[in-house]
Amino acid sequence: MDSYGGYRSQLVGELSAKGIRDLAVLRAISEVPRHLFVPESIRHRAYQDSALPIGGGQTISQPWVQARSLELAKLTGRDRVLEVGTGSGYQTALLAQCADQVFTVERIPALAQAARAVLSATGARNISVLVGDGTLGWRAYAPFEVIIVAAATPEAPQPLVEQLATGGRLILPIGDRVNQVLTLMVKQPDGSLVTRTVSDVRFVPLIGQFGFAGDLAT
Ligand code: SAM
Repeated sequence: MDSYGGYRSQLVGELSAKGIRDLAVLRAISEVPRHLFVPESIRHRAYQDSALPIGGGQTISQPWVQARSLELAKLTGRDRVLEVGTGSGYQTALLAQCADQVFTVERIPALAQAARAVLSATGARNISVLVGDGTLGWRAYAPFEVIIVAAATPEAPQPLVEQLATGGRLILPIGDRVNQVLTLMVKQPDGSLVTRTVSDVRFVPLIGQFGFAGDLAT
């Protein structure tokens, strides 16, 4: 265990006290070195239950939100997962601990490159990182049993709905650029989606063909 192990255990205790029950998720959080995924200048804050800046105007999301999203995914260890919005790569690493294969798409090349480097350094081997517009999904590897979108979107991007397997679970923050609701959609055999809203959240916007339009601030 590295010198941050005690902080990870504290974070696990805090998330558990806040209602996270899935043992596989808590185990992943106790094992993945979150401090390696944040800029060195804020490493001392890596195990706080809060979102942190990672450069390029983007954030690593709050651990509770990431843990809740992972719980909603109900991963079995045999799943093929698509993540939209790699960011720092931290949630990618959590997913990789709980799933078979993780395909992740990031629109900002510098973030994707940094995430690739740290994921490789931490020894994850079941992750593929693509630079591009994740609202288009990653058709070559579809269908996915789970799709997690880590940025705010006005509605479920149609390509992601198409690339979701029957019975698959799509987890995404739906709303405007400021406030969203974490939402779970489950694809039915007839192709329709059963939707459940989970909690209020705040994410950076999903910028792309099936998300928000880009601007200079993003
Ligand atoms: N889960 C990440 C982590 O653990 O660090 C945090 C993700 S951050 C909240 C959202 C990310 O989505 C940003 O890195 C942003 O650049 C990315 N993003 C926004 N629009 C995107 C798009 N259309 N395709 C891929 N990534 C996108």
